[in-house]
Amino acid sequence: MTRCAILLPLLCALPLSAQTPRPAATRSVVHAGVLIDGVGAAPTRDRGILIEDGRIAAVGPWAEIRQRAGNATVIDLSNRTVLPGLIDAHTHVLLQGDITSAEWDDQLLKESIPYRAIRAVAAAERALHQGFTTIRDIGTEGAMYADVDLKRAIQRGVVPGPRMFVATRAFAPSGKYPPSGFSWELELPGGVQFADGVEEIRKGVREQVSRGADWIKVYVDGGYYVAEDGRLRSRLNYTDEELAAFVRETHRLGRKIAGHAMGWDGIDQALTHGFDTIEHGPGFTPDLLARAAKQGTAWCPTLFVVAYVAPGRGGIWPRIVEFAAAAIREGVKQGVQITYGTDAGGYAWTEPMTNDFAILVRNGMTPMQAIQSATSVAARTLGQEQQLGSVQAGRAADLVATGRDPLADITALAEINFVMKAGVVVRQ
Ligand SMILES: [Zn+2]
Repeated sequence: MTRCAILLPLLCALPLSAQTPRPAATRSVVHAGVLIDGVGAAPTRDRGILIEDGRIAAVGPWAEIRQRAGNATVIDLSNRTVLPGLIDAHTHVLLQGDITSAEWDDQLLKESIPYRAIRAVAAAERALHQGFTTIRDIGTEGAMYADVDLKRAIQRGVVPGPRMFVATRAFAPSGKYPPSGFSWELELPGGVQFADGVEEIRKGVREQVSRGADWIKVYVDGGYYVAEDGRLRSRLNYTDEELAAFVRETHRLGRKIAGHAMGWDGIDQALTHGFDTIEHGPGFTPDLLARAAKQGTAWCPTLFVVAYVAPGRGGIWPRIVEFAAAAIREGVKQGVQITYGTDAGGYAWTEPMTNDFAILVRNGMTPMQAIQSATSVAARTLGQEQQLGSVQAGRAADLVATGRDPLADITALAEINFVMKAGVVVRQ
């Protein structure tokens, strides 16, 4: 006790309830007016979902499940549409929007990592309340391993938030990531971990994994331009030898690797070396999409953020919005594993995270496909399809509900008013 009081005053001051996860109500039963299962089956009416110890134990006709549930707590959603908890596969909880480079510089150079982590706690809670019960947070932008800390705090029930899969610091070669344009005399924090050459890359990947990275994120390209042949092209950040080292070491350690690739060249190189996901990818062309579909490479297109930052950034950005829309239309046709990702944090967390749904539907997805992109498809991209992303027996009891039919109007997902994570109701 004395040792605790001296060494861990803050932890000891917390009530016990904040140090341990709240136990899930052992048994509850949800009465769903309409159920969308997340794997694309036609919606069903008047369904029951039995939940035991944070997992879905059974799904079936309400009368049958109600009887089986006995004295379990009844959660009445009979006038709502129930879906699996949503998954956003591209967020930055440690960023608060950066249309201009000055906004990004301010966060890195004027805010301490503890302050940024406090803001990240608020961002995570916002995500959960909007129905995102899982996020893949894909780079701390100079905040080191604060994502691992937040993930742990959420797991332990210290603060509310989604399940997190985290990429920690991300990688770029020396000089290929901001802050930039400052006097060379200043020692500035890096927005990523710089790594050059195979040896540094191997060491860097090992470091990040040992400190808690679930994913490795690499900035594959930069210097975007429109070529004479009309393609969105880019300059490669790494040699083939270096990029191969990233993929080999990441996979050897049992992790997955995400590549930021905007232009044709970056997407081509990331596909060649077997990246698990392509981030953004507005430069996707039909030939590259065919390769992604054949290889089973997932694509996280982050459409809203591109449109959001384009007017403020000017230059090539308004064109990039058009490239992205055309690429999505073709990618949907070719059956690419398009995974819902917003880049929230790249835009302010005060904006909804559901904006990408309408853009996906406008560019060729059915509402059902758009829902799947943020449920079962995203779960597959994360390698969590046996745990997350569908309302089926054995999956985590992550559920959301909305008062309007999202298959009739996808913007109904902006009006989620019930959220359950692992059997615990976090919003009603
Ligand atoms: Zn991003």
